[in-house]
Amino acid sequence: MAKAELMNYEKALEQFEVVIGLEVHVELNTKTKMFCGCKNEFGNEPNTNVCPICIALPGALPAVNKTAVESSIKIGLALGCDIQPTGRFARKNYFYPDLAKNFQTSQYDEPIAFNGSLDVEVPSGAVHNVLIERAHMEEDAGKLTHIGGATGRIQGAEYSLVDYNRAGVPLVEIVTKPIFGAGAEAPELAAAYVRSIREIVKALGVSDARMERGNVRCDANVSLRLHGAEKLGTRTETKNVNSLRSIERAVRYEIQRQAHILASGGTITQETRHWHEDKGTTSAGRPKSDADDYRYFPEPDLVPVQPSKELIESLRASLPEKPADRRKRLAGEWNFSELEFRDVVNADLLDQIEETVASGAKPQAARKWWMGELARIANETEGEAELNITPAQVAELAKLIEDGKINDRLAREVLGYVLAGEGSPAEIVAARGLEVVSDDGALIAAIEAALANAPDVVPAIKEGRMQAAGQVIGAVMKAMAGSADAARVRELLIEIANK
Ligand SMILES: [Zn+2]
Repeated sequence: MAKAELMNYEKALEQFEVVIGLEVHVELNTKTKMFCGCKNEFGNEPNTNVCPICIALPGALPAVNKTAVESSIKIGLALGCDIQPTGRFARKNYFYPDLAKNFQTSQYDEPIAFNGSLDVEVPSGAVHNVLIERAHMEEDAGKLTHIGGATGRIQGAEYSLVDYNRAGVPLVEIVTKPIFGAGAEAPELAAAYVRSIREIVKALGVSDARMERGNVRCDANVSLRLHGAEKLGTRTETKNVNSLRSIERAVRYEIQRQAHILASGGTITQETRHWHEDKGTTSAGRPKSDADDYRYFPEPDLVPVQPSKELIESLRASLPEKPADRRKRLAGEWNFSELEFRDVVNADLLDQIEETVASGAKPQAARKWWMGELARIANETEGEAELNITPAQVAELAKLIEDGKINDRLAREVLGYVLAGEGSPAEIVAARGLEVVSDDGALIAAIEAALANAPDVVPAIKEGRMQAAGQVIGAVMKAMAGSADAARVRELLIEIANK
């Protein structure tokens, strides 16, 4: 397929207004599936968490998972939605091999929650109020694995495997109203919105919210229209984008792609699109018209969901602190500069730093390790593997430095061993004998040996030319294999020189 031509981003925004719409699927972390008693667990042997209900054998009857309903109501309330007093499930009919039932049990005209809004802060500091149209309950489909092709996609595959463990896992789909007015920040807003949703469901404890496992997935709708036009442009829907960075890139790409087509007199096809992480592009999926007919009809095997007022109010009372309030509180407690704090938010490290501080580290030390060395290592592995370190271990590392037991260089070495699974920082320092040499006698001997090779350093220090000291400090650090405290070496050197 020929590579799509793109319009320069700034030029595209000069000509067109961007309208986006976001659909986020959140997998709930209930113990069992939405309509049966099968385990809801990630990573089990394929097709072991299945039963007649979730693979739809004739005569099997579903029953609604109470915890899933409560989790869905909590999500609705946290998004400021109204809760439907009575709502039926509906069958969305379509055939696909990952859907053994031939229909997905979903909600159609009676979603559990509707009419909400969420304030979303973008990296520039601007806050956009995103209107939520609805949040409805549904079930996930199974998982197809395509074997034999180069890309793992269905094109070119020799055969496909299906795993129904995920079939029937409870989902909440949160749908925004069209979002206007984000302009050049539309890609960042899309990513920041999904981040906020993730923060909310994590804080509610209703989802593991791990994007790399597909717990939170985003479909991004993008359309363009000429500035001042009333009619919305034709939109495309980029499906199942599963990292924040990819959401931002996919929206930006679609803006530039559509702008080029429209400016050269073409028309946009209303369709789903696939995001290709490796190439940073989208490609056409299937055409999608507004008239797509799924033959929705009320699910006859399930009674309507009718949450009582008491239940709704008790769930409302149980809601945790709002993410925006939490940020405000943490910014005050940690005393970071505005830029430092924003960088932490954008790097998605609020949780880690909060837990590290709770484990006894100073906020700046916690920030330094997560934003510095650990971020660098995570970047090198492309964030694919989760870093094998806990906030408590980072706090322990920071404490060892604070107490003068290790210096920064040794701490980085210790960190490497922690990540390699050798144990906690204190255990590693003890086992590998990595403590800094605090025995002045050993340091003085090393300083005197270094001075013997640099006879002009003492006179220089006496004249106040301190830069001459660097040579000796460097030699001592080398002789002690990095386990000396450089500040202490410097102090001792000055004492010796001025004797
Ligand atoms: Zn089942």
